[in-house]
Amino acid sequence: MAIKTESTQSINVDPAELEKFASLAHRWWDKTSEFKPLHAINPLRLNFIDSLVGLQGKRVLDVGCGGGILSESMAEKGAFVTGIDLGDKALKVAKLHQLESGSKVDYRLISAEDIANEQPASFDVVTCMEMLEHVPDPEAIIRACAHLVKPGGSVFFSTINRNPKAYLFAVIGAEYVLKMLPKGTHVYQKFIKPSELSSWARHAGLDVSQLKGMSYNPITDYYSLGEDVSVNYLIHTVKSSS
Ligand code: SAH
Repeated sequence: MAIKTESTQSINVDPAELEKFASLAHRWWDKTSEFKPLHAINPLRLNFIDSLVGLQGKRVLDVGCGGGILSESMAEKGAFVTGIDLGDKALKVAKLHQLESGSKVDYRLISAEDIANEQPASFDVVTCMEMLEHVPDPEAIIRACAHLVKPGGSVFFSTINRNPKAYLFAVIGAEYVLKMLPKGTHVYQKFIKPSELSSWARHAGLDVSQLKGMSYNPITDYYSLGEDVSVNYLIHTVKSSS
């Protein structure tokens, strides 16, 4: 499938992955929908980011922003946010939602690699959440994020660990037992161990500063941030100043 972006370069994207999100895009802001987990974890990740970087007045790029759940919340904290995605339906939903919310995010259909060529070292903060496990070459996205951030700036990634427990919770539990996500949302082989992500980040010139787990308790229906990185996790990295 040809994807029309602002550039004509070949891009690091799996059309089947984009289609998964496109078919659900109209429900992005419905907190009871398939996107409920993203709404539920949003305050946790937003506070984590804000407590480390102080979002007020910062230039932020949200890579793989989808319908804009994190982008909008960062803008509400006073950041100047650009949100990019290769899913045009998700971006349309994001733009429509702004009309309602009055949020001021600049949304663009452009790949991380292309915007890295266009605006290197331009952002104080780059976020790339729940997206690396959906792309053919996650290391290239990490490299692009490292190019996009200013020296001394922060890059945040979140994804899913790869081990039997992650398979049980993120695939069997979430998709088959609790039916929180449609079957096939996540492909186990694309999950990423924190050691792999950290090594790719280091190769890209990003120092890993913090690793936190995001755990879901199906009894209380609450997510919490903690030390257990066995399923969902968040990484804070910092671009070397030299
Ligand atoms: N980051 C958002 C959305 C996560 S869902 C959040 O956490 O709230 C994953 C998003 O990644 C979808 O919007 C999908 O369209 C996007 N995506 C998948 N592959 C992509 C790629 N190669 N480049 C940019 N976005 C991509």
